[in-house]
Amino acid sequence: MTHTVKIIAIESVTRDVDRYVLEKPEGFDFTPGQATEVSIDKPQWREEKRPFTFTCLPNWDCLEFTIKHYPDHDGVTEALCDLSVGDALVIDDPWGTIAYKGPGTFIAGGAGVTPFIAILRNLEVLGKLAGHRLILANKTEADIINRAEFDAMEGLEIVHVLSDEDKPGFEHGRVDKALLQRHIDDFSQDLYLCGPEPMQDAVKSALKELGADPESVTFEK
Ligand SMILES: Cc1cc2nc3c(=O)[nH]c(=O)nc-3n(C[C@H](O)[C@H](O)[C@H](O)COP(=O)(O)OP(=O)(O)OC[C@H]3O[C@@H](n4cnc5c(N)ncnc54)[C@H](O)[C@@H]3O)c2cc1C
Repeated sequence: MTHTVKIIAIESVTRDVDRYVLEKPEGFDFTPGQATEVSIDKPQWREEKRPFTFTCLPNWDCLEFTIKHYPDHDGVTEALCDLSVGDALVIDDPWGTIAYKGPGTFIAGGAGVTPFIAILRNLEVLGKLAGHRLILANKTEADIINRAEFDAMEGLEIVHVLSDEDKPGFEHGRVDKALLQRHIDDFSQDLYLCGPEPMQDAVKSALKELGADPESVTFEK
């Protein structure tokens, strides 16, 4: 079932990521980690649906998406830059395979962190963050989405990985077998993975080589 929802606020998160706060349709529900098809409520864009993840929690009285723009795609994420408060998006029912299963490590690349924003916010509210780890890969420090919020999450262990900057306090390079081995001591824990496809493929292979059961790796199928 589709819903047309007005934009209440648009806030900058990084140079190419914005937060869209939307009206919430009555009774709308989802599970942290789920996404929905989104289109822009304008005649030329209504049929152009793209998946985005809810970064709010189900009990908030608004909806929130955290969206990275790709100007070179000439697509929906670029067109979203032209929207203002009062414009509307069309959203559909929630779907997706990323859901919390148990304590473990979240591995995200860039905007792939969005399902983990909702899951980690939920664990924080429940007071159950301790024992979880977030390995967060970005090109540069300025690209880290919601960094202050993640860094302030008590009990959450965070490993920031930067591919294009070599700075103290950050891992430098890509999320590879050696990096995973340095930070994860038990590969039988639940593992959650979301990022660009080449990153997901590389990390899945590395995790398998390190002894992780592919069944214990949650990712969007
Ligand atoms: C389940 C799921 C959840 C997601 N959640 C989020 C989220 O919460 N936040 C978020 O930011 N993203 C999220 N994404 C990714 C998001 O859906 C895409 O970034 C978005 O669909 C891109 O839409 P677009 O119209 O801008 O570009 P696209 O639909 O990717 O591309 C439009 C056109 O641009 C061209 N194109 C494609 N790639 C390139 C390229 N590299 N260079 C030049 N041209 C190109 C193609 O010809 C294409 O027709 C999610 C994806 C999935 C599958």
